[in-house]
Amino acid sequence: MKIISINAGSSSLKFSLFNMDDESVIASGVFERIGMEGSCYTIKYLDEKIEQQIELVSHKDAVRILLEKLIDLKIINSLEEINGVGHRLVHGKDKYSSSVVITDEVIADLDQFKEFAPLHNPANILGIEAFREVLPDVFMVGVFDTAFHQTMDPVSYIYPVPYSWYQDYGVRKYGFHGTSHRYIAKTAAKLLGKENLRMISCHIGNGASLAAIKDGKCIDTSMGFTPLAGVMMGTRSGDIDPSIIPYVMEKEGKNASEVIDDLNKRSGLLGLSEYSNDMRDILAKAEEGDEKAILARDKYVRTIVNYIGSYYLLLGGVDVICFTAGVGENSCPIRRLVCEALLPLGVKIDLEKNNDRGKTVKISTEDSKISVYVIPTDEELMIARDTVSLMKNR
Ligand code: AMP
Repeated sequence: MKIISINAGSSSLKFSLFNMDDESVIASGVFERIGMEGSCYTIKYLDEKIEQQIELVSHKDAVRILLEKLIDLKIINSLEEINGVGHRLVHGKDKYSSSVVITDEVIADLDQFKEFAPLHNPANILGIEAFREVLPDVFMVGVFDTAFHQTMDPVSYIYPVPYSWYQDYGVRKYGFHGTSHRYIAKTAAKLLGKENLRMISCHIGNGASLAAIKDGKCIDTSMGFTPLAGVMMGTRSGDIDPSIIPYVMEKEGKNASEVIDDLNKRSGLLGLSEYSNDMRDILAKAEEGDEKAILARDKYVRTIVNYIGSYYLLLGGVDVICFTAGVGENSCPIRRLVCEALLPLGVKIDLEKNNDRGKTVKISTEDSKISVYVIPTDEELMIARDTVSLMKNR
């Protein structure tokens, strides 16, 4: 069975084609700068990598060319071989707590919820509509980033603000990266051979969020109403005192959305280091003794440790902590610094095992009170799995 996972952005479309018989990736790639000058695509399959500049006026062009190329390159013999398409969808508000078969109602909801994800939901609709036009009969599934967090109880998701903000405007914590946290939760449960686990999943990439997970269900997560909340990130501040916003607006003569833009794009590692949002650059500068890079690194670690501490109490103890995404999978120094700060909880890591990068590995020692794993995330596979499972339950 062959399934395509799609992640459509406003000017890009990423895809992975899976053979779900063994969950292997047959081909993957990205169409970029859609609707802009210099549009192009990259397709990887077997040991080949094809890159080409091509005019892509719309997402429909990208899908049409993708399908043509899959046939031209003999990756598939005919379009009938594609059994289903799974779409990464960002915001399903509190209506969607699991993946769904895409219908007109789902598309209308994505449109209705667009004020909650103004960049992502409209792009997700473009991706769906492109497939509907080019491959009208194919089975399609939507996998929401917010869905996994719908198991949070009101104490976790409510903000202590006038209740009418929640009731009238939907102001609450939604959480993001849900597909990744769900993949990590499932993979960790499989590795440990146990479903009933108290787990903290640390998805730390350029965007970052933590999730407290009990028996496979999300209890709390660090991102909030938007992906700006929670731990410090590459360019995002994470949690700050909201009174800073009007204060800086006045000081810098900016409006609210300009200051929010600063918090989204010019804060986090980039903001504190005044150098880079990439952890590799920060760590290299910190090694040279650069004070701002050291401060950025240490603040980053502190915000993660603070969340882990609070989730430890919320979960009533922790069986396993998992690191994933760009920093979590690759940055041995950051994992070490986080785990060293967790020594009071009985966390001990094996420094040699911690030197492994980008693969599934247990980095805690046998006498550590909490197991610590690195697990590369695979949201595309999770989307493909959901597509297969909804297809089977049709
Ligand atoms: P993601 O958003 O999950 O793709 O993560 C991207 C981020 O991962 C980059 O901005 C880097 O900060 C970080 N990253 C990737 N590789 C490494 C590495 N070897 N060491 C430290 N950080 C890394």
